[in-house]
Amino acid sequence: MLKAINDKGEEMVAYNKSPVQLEIIRQQPLYCPECQCEVILKAGAVTIPHFAHVTHSNCSSQKGEGEAHLKGKLDLYHWLRKQGIQAKLEHSLPSIQQRIDILIKLNRKYAAIEYQCSPISHEELMKRTLGIASKNIFPIWIFGDRYYPSKHAMIKWNTTLRTSVMYLPKIKQTKLFFYDSMKARFSIASDIYTHKSKAIAQLHHDALNRLKWKDLFQHRPLPQSILFKKWYIEKKYFRSSSRRFVSKYDEAYLKELYYLHLHPQSLPSCVHLPVKNAHRYLTPHYIWQTQVMLYIHQTPIYSKITWHEIRRISQKYFYHHIDSIYPGEFLHPAYDYLKLLVKIGYLEQLGYSTFKKVKEVYFPNTLDEALKEDQLLLEKLLKF
Ligand SMILES: [Zn+2]
Repeated sequence: MLKAINDKGEEMVAYNKSPVQLEIIRQQPLYCPECQCEVILKAGAVTIPHFAHVTHSNCSSQKGEGEAHLKGKLDLYHWLRKQGIQAKLEHSLPSIQQRIDILIKLNRKYAAIEYQCSPISHEELMKRTLGIASKNIFPIWIFGDRYYPSKHAMIKWNTTLRTSVMYLPKIKQTKLFFYDSMKARFSIASDIYTHKSKAIAQLHHDALNRLKWKDLFQHRPLPQSILFKKWYIEKKYFRSSSRRFVSKYDEAYLKELYYLHLHPQSLPSCVHLPVKNAHRYLTPHYIWQTQVMLYIHQTPIYSKITWHEIRRISQKYFYHHIDSIYPGEFLHPAYDYLKLLVKIGYLEQLGYSTFKKVKEVYFPNTLDEALKEDQLLLEKLLKF
């Protein structure tokens, strides 16, 4: 922790002090602002001067406080202050026994910056978020090194990140934030599309000091050409029969396909398309997309298809969901899927919840044909 309390109840910070001043701090009795237990000053030649509990402690302020976390917290704090934003380091919320990394005040509203470097379960993240929100403070999570996205515009997906995806209704976009404190590099992931264990997003990397606070919330669309190029590779993998990893969802799915004399190789190209908000559900989207496609296939041409009916047949696949820490309205993935089917010419939209089938679903005969169909379909989508 970067703050301690002395025996007069005064707040002590050490990170910005000279060696002489550090000695003065060291000679006082020091306590943890959270649990009131005794803490000591830790100041070496390379570490950021900070405080630590004397004895082994379960205190929440002790958790996940490595060097990268301390540095990141300070970097972000200075970065906010430099922009004239009111910020306070390590703000305690005693009534809920929580401490916020950085509390900021913007236009008479409060926000909490939580810089998360260590592993955290989504349950714990949810609990801490709800605690912060209960104090009328808007929580913003920034994830550290361990969560950092790879070079290939891919995010290694886990439930913690999926829970934390922020949706900004004003710009109609999803966001996630990352900061690598050792490289002083900030990353903004926007327009996030999920496929199983990974996510494709528009990733904007920049040195922290070149970014402004408002840059975090800017509209940054993922170019469709990048999305579909990456998606084509994913579809190829989906079609191939050699699966390295078969989840419990896949096992049941492949069995079901088998009974229908189908295989991922022979499925129409309109199955397994990228849809919005898929990160909120655990069942892979190609499973419910297959059900929707089969329903459309069985519907006579030029007949009506309603959103209500699509909801009903796909409902059970949306049962296993991931709670988001940001409540609010969002577009249902199955509705987004119907909109894609309109774009590629299978459906015509008549009203908000009514559609009409206008083209028969085509099942490819060979893998080669299937891959060719996939490419044509993605190219068609790209034109929109
Ligand atoms: Zn403590």
